[in-house]
Amino acid sequence: MTKDSSAAATADARPHHALDAEMVLEHLGVERHAGLTRPEAELRLERFGQNALPPPRRRGPLLRFLLQFHNVLIYVLLVAGVITALLGHLIDSGVIFGVVVINAIIGFVQEGKAESALDAIRNMLSLNAQVLREGHRQELEAVSLVPGDIVFLASGDKVPADLRLIETRSLRIEEAALTGESLAVEKRVAAVDEAAALGDRVSMAYSSTLVTYGQGVGVVVATGAQTEIGRISTMLNAVETLTTPLLRQLAAFGQVLTWAILGIAAVAYGFGVLVRDYAPGEMFLAAVGLAVAAIPEGLPAIMTITLAIGVQAMARRHAIVRRLPAVEALGSVTVICSDKTGTLTRNEMTVQQVLTADGVVEVSGAGYAPQGGFSAAGQELALAECPVLEDIGRAALLCNDANLLLEDGHWRLVGDPTEGALLTLATKAGLDGAFEREALPRTDVIPFESEHRFMATLHHDHQGGGRVFLKGAPERVLSLCSSARGMQGEVPIDADVWQAAMDSAAAQGMRLLAVAERACVDGVSAISFDEVEQGGFCLLAVLGLSDPPRDEAVKAVARCLSAGIRVKMITGDHIATARAIGQQLGMGEQVRAMTGAEVETLDEQALIAAVGDTDIFARASPEHKLRLVEALQARGEVVVMTGDGVNDAPALKRADVGVAMGRKGTEAAKEAAEMVLADDNFASVAAAVEEGRRVYDNLKKAIVFILPTNIGQAGMIFFAVLFGLTMPITPAQILWVNMITAVTLALALAFEAPERNIMQRPPRSPAEPLLTPFLIWRIVFVGLLLVAGGMGLFLWETARGESLEAARTAAVNAVLIGEVFYLFNVRSFRDSILNREGFFGNRYVLLAIALLLLSQACFTYLPLAQTLFGTAAIDADAWLRIFAFGGLLMLVVEAEKALLRMRSR
Ligand code: ATP
Repeated sequence: MTKDSSAAATADARPHHALDAEMVLEHLGVERHAGLTRPEAELRLERFGQNALPPPRRRGPLLRFLLQFHNVLIYVLLVAGVITALLGHLIDSGVIFGVVVINAIIGFVQEGKAESALDAIRNMLSLNAQVLREGHRQELEAVSLVPGDIVFLASGDKVPADLRLIETRSLRIEEAALTGESLAVEKRVAAVDEAAALGDRVSMAYSSTLVTYGQGVGVVVATGAQTEIGRISTMLNAVETLTTPLLRQLAAFGQVLTWAILGIAAVAYGFGVLVRDYAPGEMFLAAVGLAVAAIPEGLPAIMTITLAIGVQAMARRHAIVRRLPAVEALGSVTVICSDKTGTLTRNEMTVQQVLTADGVVEVSGAGYAPQGGFSAAGQELALAECPVLEDIGRAALLCNDANLLLEDGHWRLVGDPTEGALLTLATKAGLDGAFEREALPRTDVIPFESEHRFMATLHHDHQGGGRVFLKGAPERVLSLCSSARGMQGEVPIDADVWQAAMDSAAAQGMRLLAVAERACVDGVSAISFDEVEQGGFCLLAVLGLSDPPRDEAVKAVARCLSAGIRVKMITGDHIATARAIGQQLGMGEQVRAMTGAEVETLDEQALIAAVGDTDIFARASPEHKLRLVEALQARGEVVVMTGDGVNDAPALKRADVGVAMGRKGTEAAKEAAEMVLADDNFASVAAAVEEGRRVYDNLKKAIVFILPTNIGQAGMIFFAVLFGLTMPITPAQILWVNMITAVTLALALAFEAPERNIMQRPPRSPAEPLLTPFLIWRIVFVGLLLVAGGMGLFLWETARGESLEAARTAAVNAVLIGEVFYLFNVRSFRDSILNREGFFGNRYVLLAIALLLLSQACFTYLPLAQTLFGTAAIDADAWLRIFAFGGLLMLVVEAEKALLRMRSR
């Protein structure tokens, strides 16, 4: 970083990475242990602006509008418009150009809407930072950071601004976003050479990079556009396009289709002129009509909007999609692997049992409120009767990073719920947090990580005596203990007795946590893993914490099971606890469970075989998650995996849909995930799956609705050419039909609610094409019905001696009214719609129909429309026949559905 690029200028000419940390603090005018004051921070915010990267450069509106014309079909239409004009059909040509422009406007508006919907969703994922201000550590939105702010970093965090590090503890940062190097860099406080390259400036932490390990503190030296990442503008231009693999496939298919249709139109032209003796000019118009009729111009816009509406609906149900392809994958999910704590359970922990060397002590009270007492064997227990409770409370209180605040009579937890429960326990045991922390200040800590499953802290009293407190998973802690503390002092550990007590607590679904302590030799001011692992601890207690399942998770699990989706719990907790919670969640009476250690003994093939009918993986770590995802995928499953930690990132990336927790999840996990849960709730995953299925259904419905119109109109022209008849419909009229169905009827399908049985049918196979043979049949079948109706009514009117214009008007209206009735059919692929819900279930459908009828009245009777489109007024009899045809079409399709249902039964 050069001096002038940094938001806060330093007096020394050297860049921040080459200066001593103290010097940087001094230059930035900030006190290391107090941080900035609020007024100072406000001043600086005004001066340096928000800590936000400039928004990605978007295509301008003009370019976006022009791009709407960049499409083979539009080129064809434009050429056709020019030739039509040269042939002297000025009105037809004008209509063609007009419709092309209107189509572009529709596409432009819909795309804009879809994009702003997605932008709004992305903004829901704001970044927070832990900052020291006015002497207090607080959580602030990263946008409000200013140069001089002291920021705390922990593993999993995304660095919120460019920082000069002033403290590090095994801090490792992955800077791929900046340098492209995916190996994490070990960071240190010491200044580095002035000329060091970006990747070698280990005394700095740069905005947007990820902390993969350890902790650190740094002072903000640059924010927003002044940061290193802010200056790499190329990166920021990478805007995600509104597409998914499926839509790309469709677009490619559309190209091929366009050329094929042009080929067919050319052949039809040759056949018409050479065999049927049509005049070349007339036949050219017919061929253009055929091409225009057959190509579904409106489809891409409908697909995009359906996708955007789906993503919005998911966000309303607390599932924020970060990558659009996930929407598609969600629809075909077969297995959901979920964390337990906080996702399936409420994460409101309360210590209910204290297992001591003298027996089990029950704890009363609920939640974090410190009201409650102790009892043993049904008898209330005074604190004096059980002095070990005080030791337990002290260890629980000091080996703890959480904080409980009393706000408006409610206890609010800041930190890990497991630790919050321990604070409450300590207060119930009569201890005062402030006093204990003052008497035994903490000198060092090994923070809790899921990998090692314990936390240790080193404390010294004011006489120099040291103590190490240890808490963690019982197997881990017990193996480091050589004795236990009871009423009679230190006693040997009777492994069987402890095990029996723990088994019984775990079988009730309780989460177990052991606490222990050890004196430490004088003069030690830091603890290392090795020292802790030397053992020699005295076990104080094993605590049983209740964490009941969430009610909505129980329901969601049932919904998933009925939808043919298996739910697997992957947890760091004990196997017995996990099994009990699994049963409470309704995962089955005899759920099969396995531990991470067992997973390790299996090779790839054995794991693939075992993973199928094992529903619970306990004491599992992030590496196991990755192996499990791979094994499930090898079985052909489509896997959702949830996660929150830094080390979950590989599994989240590997899963078909990686899901990160919005609240307790680290930025690293969110970055790796396709979807983020705003409420960390399993029920939201199930809701997203349901929405995913709905979006996929609605995409299919849009296609199944639109394509018959194309077949119908193209078929009519083809039929006319084949038999040498007058054209029943003109190119301008065809464009009108396609445009008006796309903006009214088809659009209504994007808002279609999920079908009633959407979560009762098995997942769609990912290999299944969008258009199954059944759907192709439905499209062709309805297309042919429209040909029959349109052609039939055209000939009927002609036979009645009506003008060509009136006959064509009848044909166009027949196709559109047929579509109106068919729209009801499409609302369900197989179920009958001949009921209240079928007709009135989607108000957008009714609105769209009203709009369509209104525009058809204009199309038929308005003199201007009559001149433009060559239409003429038709009489009531003609309308009667048109509606009769529409009604008949609907009944025929319903009859076909009924037949299908009978056959499948
Ligand atoms: P998941 O969220 O994946 O379902 P989990 O949250 O239950 O799992 P971890 O947080 O990895 O799993 O916890 C595993 C074990 O580590 C717990 O059963 C508990 O014994 C212990 N443990 C949990 N939190 C702490 C902590 N803050 N300090 C010490 N030990 C802890």
